[in-house]
Amino acid sequence: MPIVVQKYGGSSLADADRIRLVADRIQGDRERGAALVVVVSAMGDTTDHLLELAAGITDDPDPREMDVLLATGEHMSGTLVAMALHAMDVPAISLTGAQAGIRTDTSHGRARIANIDPARVHRELAAGKVVIVAGFQGATEESNVTGDVTTLGRGGSDTTAVALAAQLRAERCEIFTDVEGIFTADPRLVPDARLMPVVGYEEMLELALQGAQVMQPRAVELGWVNGIEIAVRSTFSQHPGTRIKEDRQVEQRNKVRGLATDRHVAKVTLVGVPDVPGIARRVFEPLAAAGVRVDMIVQNVSHSGATDMSFTVDRADLAKVKRLLEPIVREMDARELTTDSAIAKVSIVGAGIHNAPGYAARMFGALADQGVNIEMISTSEIRITCIIAEDDLERAARALHTAFQLEQPEEVVEASPEAAATSKMLRG
Ligand code: ASP
Ligand code: MG
Repeated sequence: MPIVVQKYGGSSLADADRIRLVADRIQGDRERGAALVVVVSAMGDTTDHLLELAAGITDDPDPREMDVLLATGEHMSGTLVAMALHAMDVPAISLTGAQAGIRTDTSHGRARIANIDPARVHRELAAGKVVIVAGFQGATEESNVTGDVTTLGRGGSDTTAVALAAQLRAERCEIFTDVEGIFTADPRLVPDARLMPVVGYEEMLELALQGAQVMQPRAVELGWVNGIEIAVRSTFSQHPGTRIKEDRQVEQRNKVRGLATDRHVAKVTLVGVPDVPGIARRVFEPLAAAGVRVDMIVQNVSHSGATDMSFTVDRADLAKVKRLLEPIVREMDARELTTDSAIAKVSIVGAGIHNAPGYAARMFGALADQGVNIEMISTSEIRITCIIAEDDLERAARALHTAFQLEQPEEVVEASPEAAATSKMLRG
């Protein structure tokens, strides 16, 4: 029997009715002949509530205890899905991440999967059961004994699902969520946004990294490395959704595929820092040590031995960054530290961007026509990103969506075998 891995997100499991709906879906797929491994997220906002509970006790929780606490959210939803299936006479068992054989490194709160021992999952499948696996978690391993519970970082259930699909050589990996798939832009911001039937791994990875929230970037990366096709689709409809896969048409398409927008951004500027060796290290080393992810970094041309340095961080990290850098700014004799959290990030993404000129000019032109000021710019081979005022985000996103004609359906030309071979060759 082909193995199918499905993952259901928190909003698909938010209450008893939705859990029953998920159980119905599972039963349907089982009757169609699949051996099912179902990865669950915590119900609704449970993970946020658990974080709040801990924050009510201490602002410096022990990372090991925090992971034990957070992992319970997924235990809860796993057992309830199993009970819903039992109530429909479908044999099912819920397993914790550790019971499902998911072994990780020891970085609590952001653990990475080291390996998966699939023996227990295979045994339960062989006994005819639907296997429910608590997402977002695993356990360390110490001399072949299960060690401590770890969690994989926010959104980590996606990673659990793709990793299991790879390990079990699943026929499909389906990520069920509350939207119909991956859109050319956030539909809440851009009403014209269009569902993409297919998106390449590389483009999806950039979109996810730049703020598209449907998929955890690590999960996309894992799918890419292992060649696992991932379907992103809605729990609440029969729409086939978006397939994330190797996209051979990329060379033909040569256009912008989608926009990503992100409001969770803040800008930090060090004004008048001395332009001498070692300054950047003094700024960024303590941030790295504190686990702060720095995104765009811009340093200006210096005037009379001093320069300005700006960078962006996750808005949630801003207070920490200020606390860490204020003493350093004083020691360095820089003029001041300023911050701005009323900014947002908008990116255009497309694998064709690097081999066709003119995308940057078109992007900046569309923003200029709207009177949107660009505060920072960064690029990768397949992306151009601008930092703008948060108040301008909606206008900017709509204008860019129109400028790059993203509302127009792509022509679905199946690539000829020769074209596919060439594009494979070009990418090695
Ligand atoms: N429940 C976890 C979170 O909220 C993991 C997940 O949903 O994927 O981040
Ligand atoms: Mg999620």
